[in-house]
Amino acid sequence: MLKLNNIQSFYGNIQALKGVSIEVSEGEIITLIGANGAGKTTTLMSISGVVPPRTGEIIFEGRPIHRMLPHEIVKLGICQVPEGRRIFPYLSVTENLDMGAFLRDDKPGIRQDLEYVFNLFPILAERRHQAGGTLSGGEQQMLAISRAIMARPRLLLMDEPSLGLAPKIVKQIFEIIKKINEENKVTIFLVEQNANMALKTAHRGYVMENGRITLADSATRLLSNDEVRKAYLGI
Ligand code: ATP
Repeated sequence: MLKLNNIQSFYGNIQALKGVSIEVSEGEIITLIGANGAGKTTTLMSISGVVPPRTGEIIFEGRPIHRMLPHEIVKLGICQVPEGRRIFPYLSVTENLDMGAFLRDDKPGIRQDLEYVFNLFPILAERRHQAGGTLSGGEQQMLAISRAIMARPRLLLMDEPSLGLAPKIVKQIFEIIKKINEENKVTIFLVEQNANMALKTAHRGYVMENGRITLADSATRLLSNDEVRKAYLGI
């Protein structure tokens, strides 16, 4: 479904990605783990067109997308849940969700998806008239995920969905990620520092260090890999 072919991405003169190759098949949850500053966010930004790669190519369903603009990439069905959630704080929960469906015009489908996300996160239904900025961190993350679902993506890029959340909420968020993948057939590209939860949720994983992929394997094998256990699982 998605293929990153030896991409190199920069911020001015600073090279953040030094030849990254990743493949994602339809229906998979893949996770990219690594330390702070490894280049995980930049990888997502390169896919979504915000930080286009200087060299290399990104192919989505057979079509090169690395020269396309972010809004053109969204239209292909690739949607990003950014780090730090970035919901609209002064808009209500419902208005935030409407923004997710901005590019759609199938009203019945939008209504159906609204019901779906309210079922997924009943707390959002309860708070539907409340301003997004007044929600707790966990609820804002739920809203950010729901807003992305409202775009009906086929590939969902998630940047650190567990960041700053209480362990109980983290567990709930990862369960929902699995559910979205299984029920809606949404392919998920998950960037995480919580390597343990990410590898327990994903089918396959990639380890990134200093702008390079250093390991790629099934999530189960990475969980029992000595290097990964020492560096990322604290075992
Ligand atoms: P984190 O978990 O902290 O978000 P990350 O693995 O997502 O880390 P990136 O945010 O992709 O890492 O950063 C990769 C490299 O690019 C780092 O060296 C970082 O300092 C640099 N970088 C990131 N954003 C910018 C920017 N806007 N301008 C300049 N350098 C940047």
